[in-house]
Amino acid sequence: MDTIKIKDKEFKIFIPEEEILKQVKRVGEEISKDLSDSNPLFISVLNGAFMFTSDLIKHISIPCEISFVKLATYVGTESSGAMKQLLGLNEDIKGRTIVIVEDIVDTGYTMQNLLKTLYALSPKEIHIATLLVKPDKLKVDLKLDYVAMSIPNDFIVGYGLDYDGQGRNYRDIYTVVNQ
Ligand code: 5GP
Ligand code: MG
Repeated sequence: MDTIKIKDKEFKIFIPEEEILKQVKRVGEEISKDLSDSNPLFISVLNGAFMFTSDLIKHISIPCEISFVKLATYVGTESSGAMKQLLGLNEDIKGRTIVIVEDIVDTGYTMQNLLKTLYALSPKEIHIATLLVKPDKLKVDLKLDYVAMSIPNDFIVGYGLDYDGQGRNYRDIYTVVNQ
C-alpha cells in the first residue's frame, strides 16, 4: 500500500519495512557488541515501541533481560512536555545497565523525564535506543546512543506508531500528507 487513510488524515509510504529491518538489525548488533559483559535490562516503552522492541531483541546475541513500561498516552499530532508517570517497572534496577527502547524522540521531553525517573533508582548506567529521531525538533540535550533512523519533522505512523490509536499495525512507516 502506497497511501493509507486514518481518520481525517492521509499518509504516504515513507520508510519501507525492508529498510527499517536493516537499520534495526544494525542497532541490535551494535548493542550486542558494546554491552556484551553487562547483562543489560532492556526497558521498552509501550505502546509505540512494541514492534521495534520485538525486532530489535532478535538481534541481541548477549545475555539480557527485558521489561515493558508505560507512560501516559500521546494524543493527536503534537507532543506535550508534561511529566508522565512510569508504570509497570517491577525489576530492581539498582546497579544495572539499562537500555531504554523508545519508538521516537521528538522534542526529547519524554525521554528526559524518563531518564530522570530511572536515574533516581540508581542504575549503573542508562543507554538509549530509539527507532527514530527528529533532530530538528530536539529541545533538550540528550545523548542518543543508538538511533535506527533520523527523519524530518513530519508526523509519521506505522511500525508501532499511531495516530489517535490507529495505524500501529502497518509494517512500513508512513508520513502525513497535507498536515
Ligand atoms: P517527545 O517528548 O520527544 O516530544 O515525544 C515523544 C513521544 O511523542 C513519542 O514517544 C511518541 O509517542 C510521540 N511522537 C512524537 N512524534 C511522533 C510522530 O511523528 N508520530 C507518532 N505517531 N508519535 C509521535
Ligand atoms: Mg514513545
